[in-house]
Amino acid sequence: MDKQNFIDTVRSAGIVGEGGAGFPAHVKYDASVDTVIANGCECEPLLHTDLHILCHEGAAIGRAMRALGDAAGASRLVLGLKKKHMGVASRLREELAAFGVDVFLLDDFYPAGDEQILLREVTGRSVPPLDIPLRAGAIVANVGTLARVSAALEGKAFTDKILTVAGEVANPGLLRAPLGTPLLSCLERCGGPLPPDPVFIIGGPMMGRIVSGLEALSRETVTKTTGGLIALPAGHPLHKNALLDERVMRRRAASACIQCRACSDLCPRGLIGHPFETHLVMRAFAAGNERSENVASAVMCSECGVCEQYACPMGMSPRRVNQRVKGALREARISYAGSRAVREDKTFWREWRKIPTRRLAGRLGLDPYMDIETPFLGDMAPPAVSIPLRQHIGAPARPVVTPGQSVAKGDLVGEIPEGSLGARVHASLSGTVAAILDGAVRIERADQPELTPKQ
Ligand code: SF4
Ligand code: SF4
Repeated sequence: MDKQNFIDTVRSAGIVGEGGAGFPAHVKYDASVDTVIANGCECEPLLHTDLHILCHEGAAIGRAMRALGDAAGASRLVLGLKKKHMGVASRLREELAAFGVDVFLLDDFYPAGDEQILLREVTGRSVPPLDIPLRAGAIVANVGTLARVSAALEGKAFTDKILTVAGEVANPGLLRAPLGTPLLSCLERCGGPLPPDPVFIIGGPMMGRIVSGLEALSRETVTKTTGGLIALPAGHPLHKNALLDERVMRRRAASACIQCRACSDLCPRGLIGHPFETHLVMRAFAAGNERSENVASAVMCSECGVCEQYACPMGMSPRRVNQRVKGALREARISYAGSRAVREDKTFWREWRKIPTRRLAGRLGLDPYMDIETPFLGDMAPPAVSIPLRQHIGAPARPVVTPGQSVAKGDLVGEIPEGSLGARVHASLSGTVAAILDGAVRIERADQPELTPKQ
């Protein structure tokens, strides 16, 4: 398959980066690089989605890497995986060798799955500040995304997602769900929440989004980037932290930030050489000086959360402060105009400043859930799905179906608007389009079955 055919195949299938914010893969892959890295380093505590995919779809990942590597002209294909999965690594080594893919083992640290950190580990190269891996000669692709690419090579669209349901639920486990499945159904499939007043994280505990309560969760569905659903009791430290308002954060920054610079010294982006020091942003924020070029380097923050969940001895919120500062800079139309060079001198301490995942989980109050088995519980078969037309970075897809129309699983329901960055959206089950409402296509099954039995 030539490069253009490969890119068209990925585009047609509606593939987006599953491990991040959902960047359209056909745009990301349309590049020339020397290295392709499969990201199998799921680093958020409690999530086992990528490991499940690695255990069951190794050959598919190898096939997709070979096709992507050929399209991009890459001479090196590498799967990044944590050393703690040594058994899986040995099996994958044999399976992937047939496709010319090596396995690279990493320590169990956070955020090993950040594509820029993984790239540094595998190649020794840093992505320049505010740039993309392409500039460092690499494409980094999540293993789930690569499994989709392999399916696309067989003509299948992106219609289902595997996710981990964990934390305070009766039967934690992994599910495969059609896109648009209500997350409440996934929760029920896992026996429901244990606390009487649960809150939820969609995604991982470090970078996921907090959803306060069952009522709020009832408005959420499985999307192309949903890797996990974590239930916690209301008032859990992660919940409290997410509720802090700006006034409180500013008061705390002004009264209790001791400018120890632990947040800056442990910042993973700083440790790959980006000229960014978050304790200085804290100082400016405390004084109300965030609309200033002096703190424009805050745009380099990846919002990984190491500073506030692990580094800060005073319980400050540097990550959330950076989010606020980025917003203020946008409003004031101030951009970063400083150096874009990688400062290699800042990378010296990297090896000694990696955050062990286990210790991080302890700090997050997640220890009680860390060793609970999460078996694969089977496929969801919801009676209806509401498939968002925007599950990706860029413009929402333009609906190409109308209410009352019959669709088969895999049919196109949303097209990329002409000239826009975006991704196609497909029917995730066969049935009838019931409505196009609130930016989503609702499809109801004709037979309305209940959930499939546990496998
Ligand atoms: S680690 Fe905490 S106390 Fe120290 S400088 Fe950063 S925000 Fe301030
Ligand atoms: S969240 Fe904190 S540790 Fe992570 S990149 Fe931003 S400043 Fe650095």
